[in-house]
Amino acid sequence: MPNYKLLTPGPLTTTDTVKKEMMFDHCTWDDDYKKITTKIRGELLKLAHVSEPEYTAVLMQGSGTFGVESVLTSSVGEDDCLLILANGSYGKRMAEIAEHAGLHYYMEEFHYDQIPDAGRVKEILKEHPEITHVSMVHSETTSGILNDIASVTKAVKAAGKTMIVDAMSSFAGVDIPVGELQLDFLISSANKCIQGVPGFSFIICRRKALDQCEGKARSLSLDLYDQWKTMQADGKWRFTSPTHVVLAFAKALEELDEEGGIEARSRRYQENNRYLISHMKAMGFIPYVSEEHQGPIITTFFYPENRNYTFDEMYRYIKERGYAIYPGKVTDADTFRIGNIGEIYLEDMEKLCRIFREFLQAKGAAA
Ligand SMILES: *Cc1c(COP(=O)(O)O)cnc(C)c1O
Repeated sequence: MPNYKLLTPGPLTTTDTVKKEMMFDHCTWDDDYKKITTKIRGELLKLAHVSEPEYTAVLMQGSGTFGVESVLTSSVGEDDCLLILANGSYGKRMAEIAEHAGLHYYMEEFHYDQIPDAGRVKEILKEHPEITHVSMVHSETTSGILNDIASVTKAVKAAGKTMIVDAMSSFAGVDIPVGELQLDFLISSANKCIQGVPGFSFIICRRKALDQCEGKARSLSLDLYDQWKTMQADGKWRFTSPTHVVLAFAKALEELDEEGGIEARSRRYQENNRYLISHMKAMGFIPYVSEEHQGPIITTFFYPENRNYTFDEMYRYIKERGYAIYPGKVTDADTFRIGNIGEIYLEDMEKLCRIFREFLQAKGAAA
């Protein structure tokens, strides 16, 4: 099969050195392995600008959704009520999780190209004093919009509620001052901006909020508190850990550091994103999200009107030339998406835009 790079927002293109780490079958019970887990947890806290004992990091088997489900179903107790702010399918997925687990919840929906507004959140919290927890997505990968978690968190914390953020596709690609914001739970996963491979999610938890999860979980395997308790003792995972993925992730963290940390990585992603948008615009592709709210991770583009090609044709043409793009996911418009995170550089964006131009020329549709 011809090789191609992923312009999808996770799994994404990783380095050969990260992939090579997976050539080793590590045992899980000895100190060497536990040390790797413990080191990873410490590094994650550093990336979040927090430290023990105020904050702690928990690794959880499964994809990102497992992490979100773990937090929601371990922290929102029988007498609690969750407010979900949704402006995309990942926000809505939180409501699906709440529904399945029988949590008390409200969902406040915003248009997919609008950010959840702190003023509206304040009103809802006043109208509904029974709400104890609020959750939202930071980078809504559905559209690429970057939500303003700072203003919403401020309102939520001022009201004395617990704040949960799905920072799946932004953590380490966008700097997040977790401690300064006093976030209670932040969820991300191995295969997004840290550039590891899929297999586990991780949660940065404020200890005071985590302690309140004890005995509340609706699920055995996704019990956040119990997972933490075992891991905190000596670095052991409660059930079989994804060893190969963990080794690859430890390497990915080293490579993030070598690149210059979050500052350098977020600069690279922003440069990729800006180049992509300006050159796609020049070819007649209009972004779905306004410049003000566009995040640096993934961009949704409208199809030009009266186009004479299908997504499939375009996708295959581009894939044969080395890149896999992404179908659209917003529900109210005909769109496609291009991610620019992972082991992707400006030269990839240049090459991609050349391929787009050639495709349009071949179709007689060049702007
Ligand atoms: C990737 C992602 C998730 C998790 O999706 P999985 O398919 O479970 O890995 C959740 N939220 C956001 C915003 C994401 O980008």
